[in-house]
This record gives sequence, C-alpha cells and structure tokens, in this order.
Amino acid sequence: MTVAQFESVADAWPIGLVVVVGLFGLALGSFLNVVIARVPAGGSLVHPGSACPGCRAPLAWYDNIPVLSFVVLRGRCRACAMRISWRYPIVEVITAAALVLAYVAFGPSAEFLVACVLLPALVAMTAIDLQHQMIPDAITLPGIPVGLLINVATGRISWIDSVIGILVGGGLFLVIILASRGGMGGGDLKLGAMLGAFLGWKALLCALFVAIVLGGATGAVLLATGRRGRKDPIPFGPFLAAGGAMALFWGERAFGWWMGGFGG
Ligand SMILES: [Zn+2]
Repeated sequence: MTVAQFESVADAWPIGLVVVVGLFGLALGSFLNVVIARVPAGGSLVHPGSACPGCRAPLAWYDNIPVLSFVVLRGRCRACAMRISWRYPIVEVITAAALVLAYVAFGPSAEFLVACVLLPALVAMTAIDLQHQMIPDAITLPGIPVGLLINVATGRISWIDSVIGILVGGGLFLVIILASRGGMGGGDLKLGAMLGAFLGWKALLCALFVAIVLGGATGAVLLATGRRGRKDPIPFGPFLAAGGAMALFWGERAFGWWMGGFGG
C-alpha cells in the first residue's frame, strides 16, 4: 500500500483505523511479553511455543489472546491455576495505548512509522530493566542503526541530526559512567545512543531532561518514604524510556520553545 492509498483509507475510515492500530498494538504487546520473558535469558523468540512457566502446559490459542484471556482465566493458568503475572495484560494495554496515541497524534506518516518501532522497543526495555536491572544489548545495539536508517529512509529528521544524537547520547553517558564509577551502567549508554539515533540530538536533549527530572523526583520520593535506601540502585532505563517516548511526541517543539527563550 502506498502512503497516498493509506491516507485515503485513513480519511474514509478514521475510527476503523484507530481500532485496527489498537488491535495491532495488543498483538504486538503480546509478542513483547515473549521478548521480555526470553531475551534476558538469551532464549529463542519462536521456539518453543508459549507455555505456562509453572506447569509447562502449552497454551492453546484461545488462552493466548491479549488481555481477553487474562480476564477470562481470572489471571490463572488453566492447567495448574498458577497466577499469571499482571505484567502480561499491562504490557499489552500500554503498547496498544502508545500506538493509538501515536496514530492520533501523527496520522499515517513517517512519525507514526518511527513510533511503531521505537515505542514497543521502549516498553520491552522498561519491563526488562524493572525485572532484571539490565537493558538488553539485543534491543539497544540493533536499535542504533535501525534508528538512523529509519530517519534516512523517511527523511523525518536529517541523518546528521541522528548521527549527532548517537554521539551525544552515548558520549554524555560515557562521561557520567566515568564520573560516577558505577552509578550508571553500559546499558544506559547504549540506550542513550539508540534514543539519539531515533530522535536526533535536539529531541534527545529533551528526553534526557525529562528522564533526569522524573528519575530525580522518583528517587527523592522513594528515599523520603524509606522504600529505598541511599545505596540501593534505582534503574534509570525506565525514566530514559519515558523521556524518549515523550520526546518523540513533543521533543522538537519543546526544543524550539527552549531555544526561543521560552517565548513561544
Ligand atoms: Zn500452569
């Protein structure tokens, strides 16, 4: 389908396409759950098929429908009644919501295409970092060339902006890692470079700003309420991912406003 054809379908059938994007997001979220469960362990994404982690019973297709199966089964395995993690429906709903928001914001466009690649990657990375305190190279390393190529292919931002973004994102974290001696990991560096590749350096700076504000505020609340001690590491990946997602939607505009002296 060409972009022009896609646009004419979008004009004729706007609500229908939002529903299609939402269903696609749910299916993609379901796939991300497989990525989240298997990538940190280095497992294959296709083999074996989905099974209950408790009793190894293979999942029938009707027990593997995004969100719906979780609700019908009341969050338990059909065979052994083991609790299914809330992560599954949450990841599916967030992925679907992110793509619907992107479609409503950008319409059928290069921005939407970029969003369809970047946002699901950020959802998977956030879940993996929260669960395993690591950001997988299997996502960030290919993400750097993919981000650059998608910008070259669509012309959404110039390739120079994207390359500078990679250097700024990676470089800033390199400085932080050297200065903090272990407070920040190499995973954050690669994620910073990947965000720079997708967003370009201007929106990347907005992403970093949002990440630092959100991370700092969350850290302060966790310290103040005693839920984390001063020595406990708080993963920074989820904040970077949130900043990256916000920068995809508003980064270029925020940067212009910033450079214009907050004037307009
Ligand atoms: Zn089971």
